[in-house]
Amino acid sequence: MINWHQLRKRAHLICFLIFLVLPFANVVRFDIPRQRFYFFGYELWINEFGIIFFALMFLMFLIVVAAVVFGRVYCGYLCPQMIFSEASAALERRLRRWLKPRELAARAATYAVLALASVFLAFVFIAYFVEPRDLLRRLATLDIHTAAGISGAVVTLVTFLDFAFVRLHFCTTVCPYGYLQGMLSDSNTLLVRYSDPKQDCIECTKCVRDCPMDIDIRTSPFQIECVHCGECIDSCEAILARLKKPKPGLIHYSWGVEGRSRFPFDAKRVILAIVVLFYAGGLSLALSMRHAVLVRISPDRATLYQKGADGRIYNHFRYSIANRSRTAEAVVFSMRQLPEATMTLRSNPVAVKPGETVNGEFDISVPAGRRREFVTHFDLLATTIPDTVSDTFPVTFISPMETP
Ligand code: SF4
Ligand code: SF4
Repeated sequence: MINWHQLRKRAHLICFLIFLVLPFANVVRFDIPRQRFYFFGYELWINEFGIIFFALMFLMFLIVVAAVVFGRVYCGYLCPQMIFSEASAALERRLRRWLKPRELAARAATYAVLALASVFLAFVFIAYFVEPRDLLRRLATLDIHTAAGISGAVVTLVTFLDFAFVRLHFCTTVCPYGYLQGMLSDSNTLLVRYSDPKQDCIECTKCVRDCPMDIDIRTSPFQIECVHCGECIDSCEAILARLKKPKPGLIHYSWGVEGRSRFPFDAKRVILAIVVLFYAGGLSLALSMRHAVLVRISPDRATLYQKGADGRIYNHFRYSIANRSRTAEAVVFSMRQLPEATMTLRSNPVAVKPGETVNGEFDISVPAGRRREFVTHFDLLATTIPDTVSDTFPVTFISPMETP
């Protein structure tokens, strides 16, 4: 049989490592100073609304599906609040045992360790919003602005108070996920259920004593405090094993209160799966269509055209190149479908450093004195090198309609 406690502690360790790695590997991170959203290696600019929308909707529906299907299993197995609360409570118990009977020393040692851990955790938490290496450099050189210093101190203090005093009370009072779960669960949601048709319960209350949320699962499987951790399942099985009663025990995971052991695949779950797939597909498509270098070109129509001293007709254009990649790029401008035209640009290709936006302007001219339409449609091409990705911009050239 599965030992849920061991499984949970392994899941906690993996989640803790993921929590540490995510901001440093830019897997999921929202960089506030640079206004960038990092998502699985992609550096998204805040104006890439389409991709950010799909990413957020995908994550949101993933949470909804997890709540509908697995209930509060997220709380018991994956939630950082649960992981750190249980770790701090375990630390306190251990220090009390080691330093017995010096109660004051045990408490002081607990708070000292939690204070150090809070500084570290606050650093990791802030790294989700500020570039971690930059944050570390600033801390090392004490280059901290007042606002950043106050924010860091507040996050550290809140973290310390949370894990020293609030702990799991957070889950039953202010955590919105618990209330969301209450609204989303249905008759097929996974829950922890007590069932004793043969009246085997010996009223030992071990399941209650081992419950991290201090509840008695025997009274109801629908208690808002229950985080579906499965600790009471292990407790009951251990007790019944001593009494040589056959497994499983009196408490189990089940799909719904009727005790189904098989995953129910109903219409609601099918629809939710389709919605998640839709947003996952939209996100993949948006990411695959994304150009690392974003070029914008617009004609300057403050004056429709100008006649140059060299006898040519000039139209003025502006460009903006945003390099959203992590490598240096360059853009070559060219044109087609405008005979005898010349492009005057300070430098072509235009070099753009990683993360940089370059704005500039250029002229396109044609010889005067030819019969032309007032408006000639043609294409401007912006080719990124070394990737050789081309963007085509249909634009217009305005002429004075002169005849020779
Ligand atoms: S009742 Fe059982 S599953 Fe629910 S929180 Fe307590 S120990 Fe965990
Ligand atoms: S651990 Fe099992 S036997 Fe003991 S009180 Fe809980 S349900 Fe009954």
